[in-house]
Amino acid sequence: MESDIRASRYYQDGQVCNTSSPGKDLNAVKWWGWGLESKTYPLDDKPQFWPYLLKTLKLAKLSKCSRMTFEEVRLPPCRIDDRTLARVKRTVGAGISTGKHDRLTHSLGKSYLDLLNLRQGLIRNPPDAVAYPKDEQEVAKLLSFARANRISIVPFAGGSSVVGGVEPAKARGTKGAITVDLRRMKNVLHVDAVSLTATVEAGIPGPELENELNKRGFTLGHFPQSFQFSVLGGWIASRSAGQVSTKYGKIEDMVESLTLVSPNGKLDTKAVPASASGPQLKQVLIGSEGTMGVITKAKLRIHHVPAVSRYEGLMFKSFRNGINAIRETMQSGSVPAMMRLSDPDETMVSLMLSSQSATTKLGLWMLERLGYAPSRRCVMILGSEGDPTIVKAERQVAVGACKRNGAFAIGKGVGATWLNERFELPYLRDVLLDHCILVDTLETATTWDKLEALHGAMKRSIEEAIAEMGVAGLAFAHVSHAYPDGASIYYTIVAPQVAGKEVRQWLTMKKAATDCIMQNGGTLSHHHGIGKDHAPWIKQELGENGLALLRAIKRQLDPEGVMNPGKLLGSN
Ligand SMILES: Cc1cc2nc3c(=O)[nH]c(=O)nc-3n(C[C@H](O)[C@H](O)[C@H](O)COP(=O)(O)OP(=O)(O)OC[C@H]3O[C@@H](n4cnc5c(N)ncnc54)[C@H](O)[C@@H]3O)c2cc1C
Repeated sequence: MESDIRASRYYQDGQVCNTSSPGKDLNAVKWWGWGLESKTYPLDDKPQFWPYLLKTLKLAKLSKCSRMTFEEVRLPPCRIDDRTLARVKRTVGAGISTGKHDRLTHSLGKSYLDLLNLRQGLIRNPPDAVAYPKDEQEVAKLLSFARANRISIVPFAGGSSVVGGVEPAKARGTKGAITVDLRRMKNVLHVDAVSLTATVEAGIPGPELENELNKRGFTLGHFPQSFQFSVLGGWIASRSAGQVSTKYGKIEDMVESLTLVSPNGKLDTKAVPASASGPQLKQVLIGSEGTMGVITKAKLRIHHVPAVSRYEGLMFKSFRNGINAIRETMQSGSVPAMMRLSDPDETMVSLMLSSQSATTKLGLWMLERLGYAPSRRCVMILGSEGDPTIVKAERQVAVGACKRNGAFAIGKGVGATWLNERFELPYLRDVLLDHCILVDTLETATTWDKLEALHGAMKRSIEEAIAEMGVAGLAFAHVSHAYPDGASIYYTIVAPQVAGKEVRQWLTMKKAATDCIMQNGGTLSHHHGIGKDHAPWIKQELGENGLALLRAIKRQLDPEGVMNPGKLLGSN
C-alpha cells in the first residue's frame, strides 16, 4: 500500500477544543468514556467476537452494567471561597470556571479505574475550579498566586492519562485545587524550514498540530493511540510514545527545547541540537508530569511528510521467531517505522475482531497447514516510511530478517486495516465496560535478553492474580517501540468484573503486574508515565538517591509543593 499521510484519516475526528468558549465544546466528547459521544466500536460485522470472549473468560452470558447520567452525578462542593476565586480572576484575568461540566471533565483521566469511578459517579477530588489561561503571563501569575495562597495546581492537556495523572489530590495544607487547561494556548508560533523545527504552544491537540505541519509539508511523526484526544503538553509531560516511535523517536527525542513556568519562575532551555553544558535540564523537565511547573511551549524536531508509507502483515510460527526478527533488524542499523508483533493471544483477539472474509478464512486454513498453528502463531505489522530509496532498503532488511525467522508474508491488506483502525480500538473499552468486563492496559520495556522471560512471567502473574478472585482473565501483549538493545511490551487485560469488588480486583491485578515488571528487569513505565498509580514503586525504580535528587529539583522549582501533588514523586 502506497499511502500519503496528508490524505489519511488520522485526524478526521480530532476537533476537540476551540478557543472561543472554554469548556462548552467538550460536550461532544464522552465525560464517562473514550472519544466522541457519537461513536462506538462496531461489533455487528464480527460475529465471532462475543462467543470467543465468553468462552475465554468462562462466562455463560453477557451481563449489563449501567452508568450514571451527567445529571445524576453529584460533585463535592467547591472548597475555594468566592472571594479567593474573585481574586484569582482579578490577578490572572484568565477564563476561570466552577461549572459542573468543567469540574467533572477535569476530575479524572481515562484509566480503567477512572472510568469505573466516572461511570458510578464517584468523583472524590474534582478541581475546585478550572482555569483557561490565554498566555504564558497568565500561567505565571496563576502559579505565583497559587504559591502565595497555597492552592494546588494540576496541569491538564487532553486528560487521557491512564496512570491517575490529572486527578487533583488532597494535599496537606492546601486550600483546594485549580486545574489549568492550556487549550487556549495552541498556536504554532514558528516553523523553521531550514533547521526543520517548529515552535508550538503546549495546548495544541495532536490533530491540530499535525494538520498545521502537514499544510507546510511537514509532520511531527508522533501518533500515540490517544492521538485524537491528547495534547502536546501532556505528551511532553508524560514522555509519550507514538506508534511509529521506532523511526521518529519518543516525544523526548522530538523536543529540541522547552519553556517551563514554575511557581518559582520561568525556565527556558537552549534551542541547540546537542550540548555538553552539563546534564540536560530539558530531560529532567520532560516527564515531570506537572509536578515542577507548566510546560507552555516547545521547539520540536519535525520531518518532511514521508513520500512513501507502506504497511504490511507477516505471520510467524512463534513469538520467539518474531522477537528475533525485530532484534536482528534493529541491530542491523536499519530503522523501520514500526515492527509491531502480537503474541499468540493478541493475534487470536485481532482475528476475532476482524470481519473475516472467505479469502481470510482460506488463508488461515492454508497457514495452519503450513505449520502456523493457531495456538502459537503471531502476526506482525511492518511499517516503512520516508524517502522511496530509503524505504526500499529498510524494508528489504526488515523483510529479510522476518523471512530468515520463518515469517510468511500475508500482504498489504492487513497493514491497511491496521492503519485505518489504529485509533478505533479504544472505543471497544466502553462497550466491554457496558458488559461488566474489566479492560486495562499496561506497558514496560526491557532489554532483548530479558524480553521473552518477562513476557511469560507477566502473563502468568496477571492471569493468576485475576484467578485469585475467582474469575478467568486473559492477558495478551504486543512488542512495539523497538531499539537496538530492547523493546517495549504492551499488555491488554480482560476479565469479568468481580461485582462489588471491582477496585480491589484491579488493585490486585495491578500490583501483581507491576511487582512482576520490577522483579524481571522491566521499567516501571515506557510511555504511560507514573502519575499516582505507579508512584508507590518510584523509589524502587529510581533508587533512594535518585528519588531524593528529583525531589530536590522539585523543591527548587516548587518550594511550597503546590504543583500536581501526589504524582510521580509520591508524597513528599
Ligand atoms: C485509549 C488510550 C490510548 C493511549 N495510547 C497511548 C500511546 O499510544 N502512547 C502513549 O504514550 N500514551 C498513550 N496513552 C496515554 C496518554 O494518552 C498519554 O500519557 C498522553 O501523553 C497524555 O496526553 P494528554 O494530553 O492526554 O495529557 P494529560 O492526561 O492531560 O496529562 C498527562 C500528565 O501531564 C501533565 N501535564 C499535562 N499538560 C502539562 C503541561 N502543559 N505542563 C506540565 N504538565 C502537564 C498532567 O498533569 C498529567 O500529569 C493512551 C491513553 C488512552 C486512554
